[in-house]
Amino acid sequence: MIQTTSGLRGLFQSLRPAASLSSKDLQISMYRWYTSPAESSLQELSKPCVSEEDKYADVDWDNLGFGLTPADYMFVMKCSKDENFRTGQISPFGNIELSPSAGVLNYGQGLYEGTKANRTDDGRILLFRPEQNAMRMKRGAERLCMPSPSIDQFVDAVKEITLANKHWVPPPGKGSLYIRPLLIGSGPILGLGPAPECTFLIYASPVRNYFKEGTAPLNLYIEEEFVRASPGGAGGVKSITNYAPVLKAITKAKGRGFSDVLYLDAVNKKYIEEVSSCNIFVLKGNLISTPATIGTILEGVTRKSVMEIAKDLGYQVEERQILVDELVDADEVFCTGTAVGVAPVGSITHQNKRIEFKMEGQLVCQKLYSTLVGIQTGVIEDKKGWTIEIH
Ligand SMILES: *Cc1c(COP(=O)(O)O)cnc(C)c1O
Repeated sequence: MIQTTSGLRGLFQSLRPAASLSSKDLQISMYRWYTSPAESSLQELSKPCVSEEDKYADVDWDNLGFGLTPADYMFVMKCSKDENFRTGQISPFGNIELSPSAGVLNYGQGLYEGTKANRTDDGRILLFRPEQNAMRMKRGAERLCMPSPSIDQFVDAVKEITLANKHWVPPPGKGSLYIRPLLIGSGPILGLGPAPECTFLIYASPVRNYFKEGTAPLNLYIEEEFVRASPGGAGGVKSITNYAPVLKAITKAKGRGFSDVLYLDAVNKKYIEEVSSCNIFVLKGNLISTPATIGTILEGVTRKSVMEIAKDLGYQVEERQILVDELVDADEVFCTGTAVGVAPVGSITHQNKRIEFKMEGQLVCQKLYSTLVGIQTGVIEDKKGWTIEIH
């Protein structure tokens, strides 16, 4: 906290060199600076700004998709490869400078994360389990030979960037502020090896539905030519190297009218693994199954949360290998992820056969989703300590 706050304070001190700011002042002046940089006077500073607190950025909140609408500020923290991260800075969102020989550009040494801030009906802002993303980034950094921010540094930076961009957290019911941390090998290197310097960066963008389908059921296509991840690879971490290679499969599937691709295991090509950026679940009777994470599947925070919610609601939950052939008997199939939430799957096409799933009546996945979103938005009491309110 101290480290990142000092970065922020440094920014304000450089803007208002004479002011010595208490944290209360800091909050007010932060707010002021974000909204009206042109008119600042000490007189105004002392005015209560309670009503102004509710102000939102100038966004067409009713027409948000999952496109980039960059929020005002980003967070940047650098460190050399054999050291630990220390102090970060908040700066206006903008381009970053990299050497053409940066590790990330040449060898794909990079990780991303994704988490969301939501607004409650009474205007508070809640984060959802950011420490889970921090832990996952740590595991990924280990895999890609990069230093990573500590759990506290990561969570504090997420809190700070959310606070700095609080006017970009959509009004209740209009979406979320999607927070995108990156960890990249930013230093120059020519021979293959870990980059000498790494950069931890966070930017944010308000978003709503990930799929153009909105909350309508997804139509998935089972890919047999391309694989997403193989044993011993990096499929279990959010390495940027896992994503460009599936663009071809996604493009092919979308071109044929499907929503996304469901990948099979690379070895046997008979077990389902996951979708391009979300995990998959299969419901049969009272049993909810999801593929076990054995290094080829990303361990989603939503996946983990939904498994726990499902158990609380009385379902039996299993992590196991799931055969493609089991899909025909499923009562429901759904996907989970920060970006998609819990999305019902209406059909899965495999070898030109289309398997359709029940869509009428009260779906179990909708119950899971409303519970999850209820906790994330403060409608349902959070008895699990999953949400963090930020001030
Ligand atoms: C990010 C991601 C998920 C979902 O993880 P969440 O933590 O729930 O957002 C699932 N699969 C892949 C491949 C991903 O990149």
